[in-house]
Amino acid sequence: MASPAPKTSAKAAKKAAAKRGAAKADMDRPGRQHSLYALSERIYSGKRCFYCGQLLRGSHTREHVFPLWLQKRFGMANQCLTLLNGTQIPYRQLTVPCCPTCNNVHLSKLEKRVRSLLFESPIAEARRDLKDIYIWANKILLGIVYAERLLPLNRRYPRGRAILPREMHDMFNMTHFLIQGLRFPIRFTAEGEERIPGSAFLFDLKSPRNQELQFDFKDNLFGLSVSLRLGNRGIVTLSDGGAIDLSVGDLLRRDGKRKLHPIQFDELAAKAFYKATLLNRTPKYIMTEFNGAVEVMQMPLMGLSSKPVFDDWNQTAYAHMLSVLTGYPVERLKPDDTDRVMTFISDAEGNPVNIPLGRSANRSPTMNKANRRGNSKKATMSTIKRRCAALTRG
Ligand SMILES: [Zn+2]
Repeated sequence: MASPAPKTSAKAAKKAAAKRGAAKADMDRPGRQHSLYALSERIYSGKRCFYCGQLLRGSHTREHVFPLWLQKRFGMANQCLTLLNGTQIPYRQLTVPCCPTCNNVHLSKLEKRVRSLLFESPIAEARRDLKDIYIWANKILLGIVYAERLLPLNRRYPRGRAILPREMHDMFNMTHFLIQGLRFPIRFTAEGEERIPGSAFLFDLKSPRNQELQFDFKDNLFGLSVSLRLGNRGIVTLSDGGAIDLSVGDLLRRDGKRKLHPIQFDELAAKAFYKATLLNRTPKYIMTEFNGAVEVMQMPLMGLSSKPVFDDWNQTAYAHMLSVLTGYPVERLKPDDTDRVMTFISDAEGNPVNIPLGRSANRSPTMNKANRRGNSKKATMSTIKRRCAALTRG
């Protein structure tokens, strides 16, 4: 039975509406736009810029989640991304609302810088400055999440529930704020050092000749982890306040020193993705704002608890993550009850393995198709939630 509506006087209702209106107007005032408040209170809608949250008046512009230059370079305009509900959308159609300033100024400058860092600069130079690459990868993830909050779960009911489960609506708030560095200066410090607000790795890869096999994208929403394979460059980013970098960053960089086969890149991404699911702390921040510049200090992850920052590594769970990222069945990656999981990086003696880009490599399951979760079955909201939970458990 429905409970009776609380009695409010017309005057109180009017006052509350005025307050809501004022808060909304306040949010849209230029001076307020860079506060965390403006972004966290922002309503995801087709009328707001996905990046800065500004209300779009007059002509709407739309931004391709995967930029046009990338679509052209890797011939992927007609390839599809699998959304959380199992439906597929061609990259050329995946767009989000964007204000002209973000589109033509901030993001267009970012695209130029990232393009040059990835494909025109020596990799050592690009690795020294991973901030732009980190923001760029997260901007893509933000775009997908934004689209999934707007697109209907069931296309037959365009006004029905959106794809992204309600519980996951706030997951991107902090990262969304931390990647606003294109619009105003943000200084991020963690463990006493100035750094990027997450972990980012760039790998040198062997690139398949076939253009259609040169691109791959994978993500994990719980760790806000992204893996992007772009020809001879591989990017892995995690929104973890730098925890992965501080714990296993050196190992990943050591294994990634040489030119890797795409499957080896997938293995390193799986290690980082899985490690991110083991993080058992929620980073806390102290934020100050002065003269339009923002300083964000991340509190030490260890905090006051004596419990380790990461839960114990479990080889079975890791094998599942490796299977999601490489496309190989778990039974092949972890054939028995021992703790052994197949590796493509080193041989039994621990020596680095060189895998040539042969015909068999081109047929490897991971490179067959660019998509997100390797599963294109139609899904209901409960399967979406199960799928997300399965990813955390590995
Ligand atoms: Zn904007």
